[in-house]
Amino acid sequence: MEKYDVIVVGAGISGLLSALTLSKHGNKVLVLEKNNNIGGNCNSYVVDGFQVDTGAHAITHLEVGPLRRLMDNYFDYMPVFEDYGHYYVRTEDQFLKVPSNVRDFVTFDVLPRKDRIVVSQAITKALTLFTFGIDLSKQSVYDFMSDNLSKDTYDFVDAISYFLSGRDMKETSVQRVLSGSSFVRDSVLQEQMESIMKVHEKPQTEPVLKSILTSNLHTSLQTRMNKASKPLTTLGRLATNKVSYSQGYPRKGLKSLLNAVLFSLPKSVEIKTGCEVKKILTSNGKVVGVEADETYYANTVVYTGFVTDLPKMVETLPSSYVEELKGVDHTKSLTVWLGLDSLLEEFNYIGSEIWFKNQPYWAMPITNYDSSLAPKGKQLVGFSFIIKEEKSESSEIKNAYETIFRAIPCIEDHIQMKHEQITIPEKAAVTINGYFADARTPINNLYVAGTDTDSRSMGITRAAYSVIELLQKMNEDRNLHK
Ligand SMILES: Cc1cc2nc3c(=O)[nH]c(=O)nc-3n(C[C@H](O)[C@H](O)[C@H](O)COP(=O)(O)OP(=O)(O)OC[C@H]3O[C@@H](n4cnc5c(N)ncnc54)[C@H](O)[C@@H]3O)c2cc1C
Repeated sequence: MEKYDVIVVGAGISGLLSALTLSKHGNKVLVLEKNNNIGGNCNSYVVDGFQVDTGAHAITHLEVGPLRRLMDNYFDYMPVFEDYGHYYVRTEDQFLKVPSNVRDFVTFDVLPRKDRIVVSQAITKALTLFTFGIDLSKQSVYDFMSDNLSKDTYDFVDAISYFLSGRDMKETSVQRVLSGSSFVRDSVLQEQMESIMKVHEKPQTEPVLKSILTSNLHTSLQTRMNKASKPLTTLGRLATNKVSYSQGYPRKGLKSLLNAVLFSLPKSVEIKTGCEVKKILTSNGKVVGVEADETYYANTVVYTGFVTDLPKMVETLPSSYVEELKGVDHTKSLTVWLGLDSLLEEFNYIGSEIWFKNQPYWAMPITNYDSSLAPKGKQLVGFSFIIKEEKSESSEIKNAYETIFRAIPCIEDHIQMKHEQITIPEKAAVTINGYFADARTPINNLYVAGTDTDSRSMGITRAAYSVIELLQKMNEDRNLHK
């Protein structure tokens, strides 16, 4: 029976980034994916001539964030990112930029003037406390604001909270809003990366690759990032912050990020699809392999499915760990993709828009980045909603269409393609009391990676953080370099 160094369970972006990095440290890796296609929540596919993504995506912290570090150190081929553009707010009678800093709040007349002053003061206070090292991860956004604001202001702050944590402002931390709005920026220094991957015992047989393309960002994004990266104190961002700082949309769609990982995988990585892992096998407190369509053996297993499913798969987990995993919070999302028969004036912008009344949405006209995602002369827009677990999917879909038609009444006459996706965007929501698993499990050489194993940032950026954390833990355990 062939033995692998590492078995990775799951071929979403976390599993594939794990396979890529571990194989580049010399490990022979087997990836097992239960679906017939790979990519999980990070992919694109064609519906009636329109190329939709698995949810509307902005890729964040591309200058010095964790994904950038992984791309620089391990990718042989770099995706091209288009400048993300701006975030806008749509109401029945207004369309204007989301305020990025306290200066922008002055003119943001969607909300009453008094409320804008209160919100600006709350941001200033939060950033000042953060700058002085106060932990704001357990303080809710709601507790930070006055209780005497208008409904519109609460709805607006709730909508932002939903998109950043999946929950309302009572369950979203101040820290999450500061980092999600770029006041506090995600970064992993190259020196940190090098120290994480430092060889402890034996020399590396295969060096970590440096990027072969220095910087392959779209020129306008590069220019903006150069401007934005001038030294600034965190507090200085109160006046100058940009929410969309160093964000991008991958040219040719989300799947081009997936393709860049696949292109960079060495031959020592084997991927099997349609292969669900049902049991993770252990012996004397150490992982020995997995049971799927057959039994596979390995020295190490990296699990990237839902950590909440682990107790079903590993019989020997301690009950205290199983109890802790019950603290993980999930949220569900619905994305409605609309293929339009022409280019609508309403979507004549680059970036995304937020509707914050009743059922909030976040929408992206992705053909404005790349017209090849739709047939010639047509437009493709994705509207993402957070949906409630207790309501039926069909009623949430119905509500979503009603909201879209209320926000953009003319759209109904232009719909050529409709497509709905219901997904869990992140395997854990960053709520005040939400639990995140550690990359190390109580079973020796069984590790976990993915969006429920690291609470920093969100989505793909968080997945990248979790993989860097995995590398660090595996290196400390002398399991990284082969
Ligand atoms: C609507 C929406 C909007 C989003 N917006 C953004 C955004 O703007 N920016 C951003 O960065 N991110 C965004 N995300 C989130 C991002 O796409 C995900 O966080 C990321 O793709 C998760 O990757 P993952 O590998 O951790 O998990 P997944 O994609 O869930 O992959 C896990 C994989 O493991 C497989 N698996 C599970 N159990 C088993 C098993 N037992 N055996 C074999 N295989 C198994 C699954 O089939 C799956 O393929 C969004 C997501 C959605 C849905």
